[in-house]
Amino acid sequence: HAKNLGKNTYQFYHNAMTTKAMERHELLTDLRKAIEQGQMVLHYQPQLELKSGELIGCEALVRWEHPTKGLIAPLRFIPLAEESGLIVPLGEWVLEEACRQAREWQLAGFKPLKVAVNVSNIQFNRMDICQLVTDKLSITELEAKYLLIELTETSIMQSGDVSFEMLQAIKGQGVGIAMDDFGTGYSSLGALKKLPIDNLKVDKSFIDEIPENSESKVIFKAIVAMTKQFGISLTAEGVETSEQCDFLQIHGCDFIQGYLLSKPLPPKEMEQFLANHSEPMLIKSG
Ligand code: C2E
Ligand code: MG
Ligand code: MG
Ligand code: MG
Repeated sequence: HAKNLGKNTYQFYHNAMTTKAMERHELLTDLRKAIEQGQMVLHYQPQLELKSGELIGCEALVRWEHPTKGLIAPLRFIPLAEESGLIVPLGEWVLEEACRQAREWQLAGFKPLKVAVNVSNIQFNRMDICQLVTDKLSITELEAKYLLIELTETSIMQSGDVSFEMLQAIKGQGVGIAMDDFGTGYSSLGALKKLPIDNLKVDKSFIDEIPENSESKVIFKAIVAMTKQFGISLTAEGVETSEQCDFLQIHGCDFIQGYLLSKPLPPKEMEQFLANHSEPMLIKSG
């Protein structure tokens, strides 16, 4: 009996794994085509400056409009794109499209927004991001000050002097650098002062615990104090409630991004959002 059960269990896992591998293979084949055939789209999530109540920027977030599977979230295909190297053409497309869109909105008369673009660790290590940024700004005629490159804490910390130089070179063009998902990696607060970054994005997992968790609040206040000293601006990611927003505002967080304001929006809906929020938003102050 036990033997049979074991065999069935093995068979079960074996089949499950084969199915997974097949799905993966299929997704990879599709992904290759998708980038060439223009199935990728960018959604934009607005960012608000707490002090002024003004929209100051947005983050470009990629989605895949799969012909049969519908809209696919980045976490389902970015890792695959990274493993396969497809992240390079995908990343190039994302950067150009985000710059093009930001410029288009400016030409259409919307208040100029900074656009933040995610660059994966693999992409950062594999290609000359600095040159790519120069090229895309030139092609799209977007001014450098309206572009912000987001790199994760892990990718900034892992890389040594070479990538610090790369970051300096990008900054030298007038493009901003943000450290994304701060609080999920292992960098010490002290390491921040050496980094050539302009903005720190505190990860949602951290913001989720505010205002209930008192330790999280203490740490957040320490991050504010530290970034102020170093001249780095602070963004809170994944802000969902007005209680969180109140806390963040009272304690000197510069920018917020999250469902409280809006989910990431397709371009047309983003335009509507911008049109509806051309005046500063009223933020309760403590
Ligand atoms: P991220 O850069 O940290 O982006 C923030 C993620 O949090 C987005 O998920 C966004 O939709 C989500 N989010 C924002 N506010 C809230 C909130 O209030 N509540 C909740 N529950 N979620 C919120 P998304 O779009 O699924 O992207 C996930 C990750 O995929 C991104 O995390 C980023 O690491 C990666 N990604 C997205 N677009 C790109 C891209 O163009 N290139 C690269 N390399 N990575 C990308
Ligand atoms: Mg990001
Ligand atoms: Mg993030
Ligand atoms: Mg994140």
